[in-house]
Amino acid sequence: MTTLDKRDTDAATAGGHGRETFDSLNPATGEVVATFDVMTAAQVQAVVDAARPAARWWAELGPDGRKQRLLAWRTSLAKHLRELAELMHTENGKPTDDALFEIAVAIEHLDWAARHAGRILGRHRTLPGVLAANHSTSVSYQPYGVVGVIGPWNYPVHTPMGSISYALAAGNAVVFKPSEYTTAVGQWLVRSLSTVVPEYPVFSLATGLADTGTALCRSGVDKLAFTGSTGTGKKVMATCAETLTPVVIECGGKDALVVLDDADVDAAADAAVWGAMSNAGQTCVGIERAYVTPGAYDRFVSEVTRRASGLRAGDDRLADMGPITMPGQVDVIRRHVQEALDRGATAVVGGIESVRAPFVDPIVLTDVPADAAAEQDETFGPTLTVNKVADEDEAVRRANATAYGLGAAVYSAGRGRAVADRLRAGMVSINSVITFAAVPSVPFGGIGASGFGRIHGPDGLREFAWSRAVTRRRFAGPINLQTFERKPKAFQNLVTLVQTVWGRGV
Ligand code: NAD
Repeated sequence: MTTLDKRDTDAATAGGHGRETFDSLNPATGEVVATFDVMTAAQVQAVVDAARPAARWWAELGPDGRKQRLLAWRTSLAKHLRELAELMHTENGKPTDDALFEIAVAIEHLDWAARHAGRILGRHRTLPGVLAANHSTSVSYQPYGVVGVIGPWNYPVHTPMGSISYALAAGNAVVFKPSEYTTAVGQWLVRSLSTVVPEYPVFSLATGLADTGTALCRSGVDKLAFTGSTGTGKKVMATCAETLTPVVIECGGKDALVVLDDADVDAAADAAVWGAMSNAGQTCVGIERAYVTPGAYDRFVSEVTRRASGLRAGDDRLADMGPITMPGQVDVIRRHVQEALDRGATAVVGGIESVRAPFVDPIVLTDVPADAAAEQDETFGPTLTVNKVADEDEAVRRANATAYGLGAAVYSAGRGRAVADRLRAGMVSINSVITFAAVPSVPFGGIGASGFGRIHGPDGLREFAWSRAVTRRRFAGPINLQTFERKPKAFQNLVTLVQTVWGRGV
């Protein structure tokens, strides 16, 4: 028996074969939700091999056939919304209402991806330019084949579905390795698609821990979409580099909220508390830091304090937030809070005693040093740091002063767009928080330590397809330089053309 964190793995003997398993636990009670195989590299390979003919069949169905199937899946998910939300509550710990909201967003993305893939990935004509004016030119997008998706536990439906829906809509089969903390939810999703696409395993499951993820990276999948921590993202990228397997890397964040004097401060405080504390702060695009200008600061702190003080973590139906899903994260939260307090920060809500595993109650810290871990590293708990800044410039400077670059938010009546344009973040919400994650038409992803590549929107569909450019000669052009039979006159004509078109001053 091996123990990895709280995921118990068991060397069980099934039918005489040594078979390793792991338990997925209810994070609030420690009860076993389900037991799964720790798949070996050979087992993962078998799943990927079985997905190959499925991928060919799925690609041949064409955009309309896939759209029909994916919309049927959407309908099925909508019908079974409550059942899935209950499972998420049990296995991940989040309140059922939060789970319902999460599934609703995932359903809208699936609907959008299914409806738009044909148009966005179909053949588009392009302009051939001057030198190839006698050609018609176009670009179209082809599915990769089998896409591996490795997911985290914090949004066990919305986050992996951001890759799965778009990869399937683009014509790929998907092999999904869910987090070991939320494998039952992953299995539920896979079974759910198989009820509307029974012919081939276009969406299949690989269960296990880190080594199973590594095996998926090495299995010959045609692309790998990873969502998880920055540390694991680096390992995934290194493993995929062995076979030049392309990757999308969606990692952690340290999202900032900027609040300016002209903001609706009550609304900003309300959004800050929800952005920081919902899902017990275990949100990659959760608000972890706020920078507030002097005219808004006092009211913002008092409103945040009032609202956050009323929240409670627990596993009962009335709790505002659930437990910390991954036990090891509690130590990270405690360390960040303790270091900030030791270095002179003030806890205006909660304190170190709020960390009572597996629950953490809201903690709001003010005057946190810029180089403290609570300002620089992902805390991933229901914590918020609030700092007063002199002006908009300082707010932007501090917001941008981390290695991460995932999401951000700004509250201002008149300067929202101007600030958004200066923030080093892949996504920004003005006068709300985290909205971009729910909007299917815009891309989702970060820069820097938050990773690269995009899911959602047209960019998210193209991420799961490779482009093929085609040129077609329509008639003989006036100047043909692509022959050894070209004449000196052709170059005189070329010089005249270049100087006429591009040689005049601007
Ligand atoms: P994690 O990195 O621990 O694990 C993510 C997945 O990777 C799991 O399925 C895990 O089994 C697998 N894995 C672990 N080691 C591996 C290896 N060496 N090779 C291949 N796979 C491996 O992350 P987590 O704790 O599950 O998730 C929380 C993190 O995810 C946070 O940092 C959060 O910010 C981030 N996240 C990012 C986004 C985003 O879209 N950018 C969304 C949600 C969560």
